[in-house]
Amino acid sequence: MEKVSIAIDGPSGAGKSTIAKIISKKLGIIYLDTGAMYRTVALKAIKSGVDTKDMDALDKLIHDVNIMVKYVNDKQHILLDDVDVTEDIRTPEVSMGASNVAIIPSVRIKMVKLQQEIAKHNSVVMDGRDIGTYVLPNASIKLFLVASVEERALRRYNELKEKGSSVSLEEVMSDIIERDRQDSTRAFAPLKKADDAVEIDSTKLSIEQTVEKILSIIQA
Ligand code: C5P
Repeated sequence: MEKVSIAIDGPSGAGKSTIAKIISKKLGIIYLDTGAMYRTVALKAIKSGVDTKDMDALDKLIHDVNIMVKYVNDKQHILLDDVDVTEDIRTPEVSMGASNVAIIPSVRIKMVKLQQEIAKHNSVVMDGRDIGTYVLPNASIKLFLVASVEERALRRYNELKEKGSSVSLEEVMSDIIERDRQDSTRAFAPLKKADDAVEIDSTKLSIEQTVEKILSIIQA
């Protein structure tokens, strides 16, 4: 059977992963959260005492990073050197670290290879920053999900608060602004809407409304 690939790109906190999970379930295909891979590289650097902005050190470290993605009851788990780090990569420190390591070409090349390998063997909904422009330029459907920075910060803040984090809304907002800036201005595979992607603004939409909109695009 022909493989289907759905690329969902957009800035941090636009709701990509929430939406991608629901869409993948509805379509009965796998969901790949590519941000988790960059987060895992950042976690490895932090654990190894390496500055996530140190390009030379990351160039070396990336050779020893062993990342595996597996699915348990349809949920993506990510393994770093055989240890499940799915929850450990969700801290603000790792978020910013991921944006730092994601600038480095050797890191991206290794992650993109893994992502393309998964898409070669599976129908997939993949979310990230460069899926439609770089990882899967021939994706069946390309979506670019946006929302106002205030709304994105609030969503992220509520998520973190629910997990018991004491981070403030201002901190979350300034992290998001900095990541947006860094992700969209880097030289190699920056965050960018593909020419053939459909843009969806979810600022005033509920999760259900956003899913409905996307399903109507997919089924059109
Ligand atoms: O999507 P998430 O917030 O988990 O991504 C963390 C960071 O990983 C992003 O800020 C971005 O710098 C990087 N990333 C990327 N390319 C992707 C996915 C994520 O550069 N395809």
